[in-house]
Amino acid sequence: MKEVVNVEKIFGENVFTPGKMKERLPKSVYKAVKQVMDHGGELSLEDADVVAKAMKDWAVEKGATHYTHWFQPLTGITAEKHDSFVAHPDEDGKMLMEFSGKELIKGEPDASSFPSGGLRATFEARGYTAWDITSPAFLKESGTGVTLCIPTAFCSYTGEALDKKTPLLRSMEAISEQALRIVRLFGNTTAKKVVASVGPEQEYFLVDKEKYLQRKDLIFAGRTLFGAPAPKGQEMEDHYFGVIRERIGSYMRDLNEELWKLGVTAKTQHNEVAPAQHELAPIYETANIAVDHNQIVMEAMKRVAIRNGLRCLLHEKPFAGVNGSGKHNNWSLGTDNGINLLDPGETPNENIQFLLVLACILKAVDTHADLLRQSASDVGNDHRLGANEAPPAIISVFLGEQLEDVVKQLVETGIAATCKEGGILETGVSTLPDLEKDATDRNRTSPFAFTGNKFEFRMVGSADSIASPNTTLNAIVAEAFCEAADELEQAEDFERAVHDLIKEYLTKHQRIIFNGNGYSDEWVSEARKRGLPNIKSMVEAVETLTTDKAVRLFEKFGIFTRAELESREEILYETYAKTINIEALTMIDMASKQILPAVIRYTGSLADTVIAVKEAGVQPHVQAELLRETSRLLEEAKQALEKLKVEDARAMAMPEGKEQAFYYKDVVKEAMEALRTPIDALEMIVDKEIWPLPSYADMMFEV
Ligand code: ADP
Ligand code: MG
Repeated sequence: MKEVVNVEKIFGENVFTPGKMKERLPKSVYKAVKQVMDHGGELSLEDADVVAKAMKDWAVEKGATHYTHWFQPLTGITAEKHDSFVAHPDEDGKMLMEFSGKELIKGEPDASSFPSGGLRATFEARGYTAWDITSPAFLKESGTGVTLCIPTAFCSYTGEALDKKTPLLRSMEAISEQALRIVRLFGNTTAKKVVASVGPEQEYFLVDKEKYLQRKDLIFAGRTLFGAPAPKGQEMEDHYFGVIRERIGSYMRDLNEELWKLGVTAKTQHNEVAPAQHELAPIYETANIAVDHNQIVMEAMKRVAIRNGLRCLLHEKPFAGVNGSGKHNNWSLGTDNGINLLDPGETPNENIQFLLVLACILKAVDTHADLLRQSASDVGNDHRLGANEAPPAIISVFLGEQLEDVVKQLVETGIAATCKEGGILETGVSTLPDLEKDATDRNRTSPFAFTGNKFEFRMVGSADSIASPNTTLNAIVAEAFCEAADELEQAEDFERAVHDLIKEYLTKHQRIIFNGNGYSDEWVSEARKRGLPNIKSMVEAVETLTTDKAVRLFEKFGIFTRAELESREEILYETYAKTINIEALTMIDMASKQILPAVIRYTGSLADTVIAVKEAGVQPHVQAELLRETSRLLEEAKQALEKLKVEDARAMAMPEGKEQAFYYKDVVKEAMEALRTPIDALEMIVDKEIWPLPSYADMMFEV
């Protein structure tokens, strides 16, 4: 038996929590910190010095030797450059470790090799990192020892965001400001801010380390590039919520413990649909902390897997033919005095506010469906969205039967006089009943679903940062709130005006509501009729970032400048091209050096057998037939391999940018498929003893 875990004791053990600050800081300094945490602004350098010292003392007591400004460059993962606390020894040669307020607040990593999409060239910008005081510092234990990690934003010297955190923080300010205008209209004078909350459900696969290490595709690409289906897939539906196996259970336990120590509220864990697939969900929290914590979760998942003789695959599609992994991004808005704007509430007044918020969100999602789709795209997610699995690439909103009915009545008659489930609803008179999420009626195919008191954005990829989706959500909803508030603040008869506005928005944007089966072909043609965008791939989504509509939106709320958006476009094209190039080169390597040689050996032994059997006076029909079939596939594979080499070389020679990215998508990916097909067919024929790679069955069923 492992030692019993005392969750209350270990929770937050490795985090410099507000509680620890309170304990260790002079009252006045703590007050100053709290003021900045809650209401923004900057800490004075004197106060920062005091905080830095307290933070360092705490970290050193816990064994830390280094600190790092932990940031989230546009690569989608996190970056850190470690500095030790070591200072000049004093006259006696004694070391007193140091950490100043300046070092805490601002860092200057040599940022030249992070992607900046031309921003650095344009603005001659070196990068600096700035402490995000609202996200607590934490200790990371790894091979390098214990490091104090300070969550930071990463900007150029002229202020352009070079990371995913800065725009997110800007979007949180925008939504807070605009949402406050809405709640003020309904008489809430006490709320000081509105906070976007996020709870991401993280899916992942686990495979055995030994098998992982035998597959270059897993090592280099994070997914299998070859692999025939296992005899059993997920068709028996026996893995979802199934009993958690011993080894996996042990991993989950270690992972939880690690996360709890880091202040991550790991809450639920279960097996997912595909064999070897699992999920972990924390309790929701403020968007920027949720984003940081999700990065911590992804890092911890990988680290703990290594310690357990496993490897964690966060890729959106590690195995063809079974479910891929996503990240359901649960999102809601709440005031700092405890009102969830997505909760219908108990009074008619709250109900109308809820309906206005809902109408604004529908308007936002309909107006910017393309941007929302883009925010959830990454290279791996192309295997999910719009491919053969959930959710579809078309954005639509699921409201549930009850709420959809309310919307319908409002659109048709201007009042919702009745309410399904017996309650009477007349906006302004009675109240909306609790819109409890109904477990039986939940539409799993919807990319954007209302689930009781939050929206669940289900498109996000498992390996991706959740910063972009939440930045986009905050931005588009801030815009809709702003436009509504502009009108309503001027209204003479507020009741009338709000009623008319809700009706207008719902009527105009009801096309985005869809409660049916999102996977069906009928939906694809229905969506086309409704004029909803169906953006099939990451590269096709890129240019949605710089449409006039998008630039207007992001500039209006100071979330992205046009230059920042253009730089992101550039980086996305580059990332796509580089990723596919690595996959193509990995396939070429595996096919040339491992698979084809094995097949050739197999044909050799078959040929020997054919001759030997013939000499023994028997007709080797079966052996000869197998030899013919294998040789045919071998030839097909060899041709496909040559073609892939040519096309990949051609793509690599192209200048970076849109055209190159599209060439990878349209031509190189096709050539990769053409190589995979005969090789997967060969895997079904060739002797398992000879096949050089662990099979799907080996990897998914023997963890
Ligand atoms: P599911 O049934 O889809 O697994 P859960 O109810 O378990 O949904 O919640 C999934 C995630 O949603 C969790 O991370 C949870 O903390 C989060 N969540 C719950 N309420 C809210 C809310 N109001 N805002 C944001 N996230 C929320
Ligand atoms: Mg969910």
